[in-house]
Amino acid sequence: MKANLNLGSVSGIKIKVHWTFIFIILWVVFAELKQGGNTQSVLYNVAFILVVFVCVILHELGHALTAKQFGINTKKITLLPIGGLASLDKIPESPRQELIVTIAGPLVNVAIALLLYFFIQFENYSNLNLDEAFIVLKKLTLQNFIFYLFVVNIGLVIFNVIPAFPMDGGRVLRALLSLRMNRVKATKIAASIGQFIAAFFLLFGLLYNPFLVFIALFIFLGAYGENQMVQHMALLKDHNVKDAMLTNITTLQPETTLDDILKLIISGTETNFIVTKDDAVLGIVYHKTIIEYSSNRNKLAKDIMETDFKTLNTSDNLKSTYASIMGKKQMFFPVLENEKLIGAIDHTNLNEFIMLQTKLVY
Ligand SMILES: [Zn+2]
Repeated sequence: MKANLNLGSVSGIKIKVHWTFIFIILWVVFAELKQGGNTQSVLYNVAFILVVFVCVILHELGHALTAKQFGINTKKITLLPIGGLASLDKIPESPRQELIVTIAGPLVNVAIALLLYFFIQFENYSNLNLDEAFIVLKKLTLQNFIFYLFVVNIGLVIFNVIPAFPMDGGRVLRALLSLRMNRVKATKIAASIGQFIAAFFLLFGLLYNPFLVFIALFIFLGAYGENQMVQHMALLKDHNVKDAMLTNITTLQPETTLDDILKLIISGTETNFIVTKDDAVLGIVYHKTIIEYSSNRNKLAKDIMETDFKTLNTSDNLKSTYASIMGKKQMFFPVLENEKLIGAIDHTNLNEFIMLQTKLVY
């Protein structure tokens, strides 16, 4: 089952909705029916939720399209039951840019609220006592629809002001702190405050609202992950691939048999192998493939090697290659110096390097 349903794209940014979103709709339908609703009121409420989530998408587009102005692309915007998520290729490192990109999201909701403001006859709602207000607000009118949408957009702005990094308010806080101190320290502080607030969300969520529990987890893990990432980047920026690579690697010939490769796996700790011939790197034989073909021991390295691969250079900066090495596209990278293979690097190896550096720093 695919996790996300494609809704289309806006200026190259895919808009997707997570399948769990269906639970929100079901929940709205269920809640309405439980309160004695009819078809009309159910449709009214479902329509409302859908329009709210359009506002959420517009909020995320606010971030994404502003980031684009700074040359940062966004692969997709995902709609989750707890809100929207714009997957920017990277977070701007300049505090000024992060500030602008972050504020652009809530500003969209401010704009929507302002627009709706002109369509609301506030005199319909003012001067009402509580009972009257209850009756008026329960009516399925377009006026109420717009009024509620106005309130939700204001709510989204307020929610996003909470400085719970990596939510918008927390990003603003990090950007402001970064103007006064280095970004690593600023992130550490913002992430700690974010996790502290997440703990409150968790507590309130457990007592009153299950959605807050998910949001709390999202903030907690998000703060942890992004703080970790920033700390790592700071450690890596002064190092190149040569500092972290494996140099003790066994290379294979195109004619090496799978039988021999299996012996190498059993007798050593290497799992992926580079196939070379006369100093040229021909391909990579991955552990997964070796296991897959293990019953066919006469196969040769050249038959099972992957020939579509990227190589790295010893002088490549670790910070700029971090995403590739940690990514899922390629698990193992041959490292070249003056066109000659002198080592390899993978994520285990890079993690080990980071761990050692962390030990040295703290
Ligand atoms: Zn936002």
